[in-house]
Amino acid sequence: MTTSPLLYTLMGLLFGTTLLALGMAMGFWMAKRGAAGELANAARVTVEQQNMLALMRNMASWTNDFAGDFTRYQSKMESLSRVAADGKTTSTKEGVQKLLDQIVSANEALQSRLNNAELKLEDQTKQLAGYLTEARTDALTGLANRKAFDQKLDECFQKWQQKGATFSLAMVDVDHFKKVNDTYGHPAGDAVLKEMATRLAEIKHDSLLVARYGGEEFAILIDGPETGAAAVMERLRKNIAGKAFETDGVSIPVTMSCGVSKIFGEDRVGNLVRRADEALYSAKMGGRNRVFVHNGTMCAGLGSPSNDPTVSATAKSDPLPVSNDLEERIRSKFDHIIEKEAARRV
Ligand code: GH3
Ligand code: MG
Ligand code: MG
Repeated sequence: MTTSPLLYTLMGLLFGTTLLALGMAMGFWMAKRGAAGELANAARVTVEQQNMLALMRNMASWTNDFAGDFTRYQSKMESLSRVAADGKTTSTKEGVQKLLDQIVSANEALQSRLNNAELKLEDQTKQLAGYLTEARTDALTGLANRKAFDQKLDECFQKWQQKGATFSLAMVDVDHFKKVNDTYGHPAGDAVLKEMATRLAEIKHDSLLVARYGGEEFAILIDGPETGAAAVMERLRKNIAGKAFETDGVSIPVTMSCGVSKIFGEDRVGNLVRRADEALYSAKMGGRNRVFVHNGTMCAGLGSPSNDPTVSATAKSDPLPVSNDLEERIRSKFDHIIEKEAARRV
């Protein structure tokens, strides 16, 4: 048992400071989330906040316990050093042995409390990590949520600016989803969204992030230029259109439209989102159940739908120049994103 009291003091301080920092970080995080009004589901948030508060209370009471243990240890060591200093006990071999035994036993007791504290800290860190993961996960589909998407998009953007790492964004929207709800009911609509998440999982290893963007829209970030990204999305589109969704013994035909674009030169994040959305809009206008790519100048459909049995022949996916009117409408829709982005980057 060679650990010195000074080391224990430092460890005590370190634990105390770590817990204080954790408490402050959690408090800050919760306040920020609340203030930003980004909380989609009030009931879930309350549970989340209650869990966090319970965790903080646990940590605070554990810090108190630990501080108490440590104070007891310190006074024990002080009284033992007074005994040693007066020379009476240490004048005999038995006396020295007794003193040493008491020091060893006090050290062992503290060591055991420290080991317990370490296990508790590990356990509570896991819980905390769980809560943070939950805060970035969409409750219905289990996919990353909009908040997680925004963060990843920022991360990709920074990598693009710093290292020139090209990436693409694909926006997916389930076709005529309102009709699915109207025809089969809202729970069936929810089941379709869950099945969408399952099918999207099949392209997970080809992507940087698959997220539920909101409602029946999904956003996928893919490494590399738009050609590769569009091929991945076309594979997904075929998968979805090629096999009806089964829910409660009912077979629901589902298709998706998709818009893809890559990051360009002097882009801002908002421009990329706007282009991908323009391409998605063109895919809808082009007849749905198709993937359109915005190459910076125009939107064009992928491949030849006339040869694809999953695509109806109602519309061809010929290049659709972005009309001023369309551009204007979409631009106004995304103005707030661009403004927000500009404000953030000032
Ligand atoms: P389009 O092909 O043009 O995209 O048509 P759409 O019907 O898919 O689009 P629209 O925006 O008219 O309708 C989207 C619907 O998605 C309306 C909304 O009630 C439904 N929806 C959004 N979120 C959910 C959800 O979590 N569950 C269910 N069941 N429906 C949802
Ligand atoms: Mg939609
Ligand atoms: Mg839709």
